[in-house]
Amino acid sequence: MKTEPPVRRAVFIDRDGTLNELIYSEEHGIVDSPHRAEDVRLVPGAAEFIIGVKALGYLVIVVTNQPGIAKGSLTTDELQRINRRLESLLAQRGARWDELLYCPHHPRMHARGVTEFVAQCDCRKPEPGLILEGARRHAVDLSRSWMVGDGISDVQAGRRAGCRTLLVTRLKIETIERFLSLEEATPDYTATDLFAALRIIRDVTADSSG
Ligand SMILES: [Mg+2]
Ligand SMILES: [Zn+2]
Repeated sequence: MKTEPPVRRAVFIDRDGTLNELIYSEEHGIVDSPHRAEDVRLVPGAAEFIIGVKALGYLVIVVTNQPGIAKGSLTTDELQRINRRLESLLAQRGARWDELLYCPHHPRMHARGVTEFVAQCDCRKPEPGLILEGARRHAVDLSRSWMVGDGISDVQAGRRAGCRTLLVTRLKIETIERFLSLEEATPDYTATDLFAALRIIRDVTADSSG
């Protein structure tokens, strides 16, 4: 049996803080991932970004850490409801991802923790496991693909997988550049929002396939 070489390109994209807004939790006094479907709000440009990169020929694969499963603060059912809510908000605007892969693990046991998900896994970003799994399932050429997210661990996972990396952040890059290089997390590109991120991917794709 002959294995086919990877031929497709993909944009791997983070979920929380990149496609959907983070939520301020009064209970914990921090911003966090939504824990209820009714708290899901699209980040401006999320649908336009997905539609735009798909028009360039990319698959869209969402890769997200969901340690709330291991910590016992989120059930698998709640997570599925949140994912379906996000999917339907995007669908209302004509956007659809090809796949969503999540890591349910966390390395440490918490008070209400769920033993089967407490693990030092290879899928929790900054590890590249989710990206590698998505690439395997869809025969993706990682060197022609992107990892897009709002966090350092997104950039690290993308680098480890061999993708181009794009950090979406409103922080001034100069102010965090040194920190990012210490963490081996210097992104190839930065954008202040998903509209700008789409322009970068469009330009680089045009340059590298022309
Ligand atoms: Mg994020
Ligand atoms: Zn994992």
